[in-house]
Amino acid sequence: MSGGPVLCYHRVGGPLELGVTRVGRAVFARQMTALAKAGWKTLSLAQFAHRLQPGNSASRIPHSALLLTFDDGYASLAQHAYPVLAELGFSATTFLITDHVGASNTWDVRYTWRPLAHLDWRAVERWQQRGFDFASHTASHARLTWLDDARVADELGRARETLVHRLGAAAGRAIAYPFGAADTRVERLARSAGYELGFGGVRGNGGAMSVPRVPVYLWDAGNVPLGLRADGLGSVGRFVAHLANRCAVGTSWMLKLRRRISTESLPPSPRPPSHDIPCPRRSSLP
Ligand SMILES: [Zn+2]
Repeated sequence: MSGGPVLCYHRVGGPLELGVTRVGRAVFARQMTALAKAGWKTLSLAQFAHRLQPGNSASRIPHSALLLTFDDGYASLAQHAYPVLAELGFSATTFLITDHVGASNTWDVRYTWRPLAHLDWRAVERWQQRGFDFASHTASHARLTWLDDARVADELGRARETLVHRLGAAAGRAIAYPFGAADTRVERLARSAGYELGFGGVRGNGGAMSVPRVPVYLWDAGNVPLGLRADGLGSVGRFVAHLANRCAVGTSWMLKLRRRISTESLPPSPRPPSHDIPCPRRSSLP
């Protein structure tokens, strides 16, 4: 069962970063132009979902069709990516972190000098009217596999409710798991929250709730992104992307530690003065 290849970009253009998920505007435009010239078409989320259903993959939609996705919903997409796509007759699906729409990326480790802005609802609605799809990347970009059932359900359900309320039922169809991190428990909870499609990392199992995607990272600057190449270089590229995806665990640990630290640095509740010197709470480290 395959709906076709799924590429996953994060940020296009804008300030440079210490991380690897930013692709330059010129590189992105060159890649999209090369794909269009080679006859590739982009799928809407509804077309992709239709192709995933048994017996539909060989439908009238051309073989060289792909789903183009963006994670996190940075504001710079509306400036540097969407206009390029619209010009070529392409569209894309963007996975939004619903608590941060119209705000900045305080959910992330700082890889840039200043915090980055996210798309606001007005921009989202404007591009939705032009045929672009929007879907869920949870409420706060939590690593779902590390949360208990109730918190997973809250992250998934709250995000879906907001999207359906703001953008209509179709925006509640799909979820991209933050960091590509999902397991059968998370997939089951996503389905019970109402999602029909779940997008994971490079090695999804191909089921509707574990659709594999190939991320396009900084080094993937050729005309054809490595995820679409059938040759040896393509296999190497997909393997490296898989490793990079796994390395995102480091980012999750840093964020977890930061949350712990900020919780622990809250003003203490009033108590009698003490001369004890507090020891680091070793057991509280992740
Ligand atoms: Zn993300």
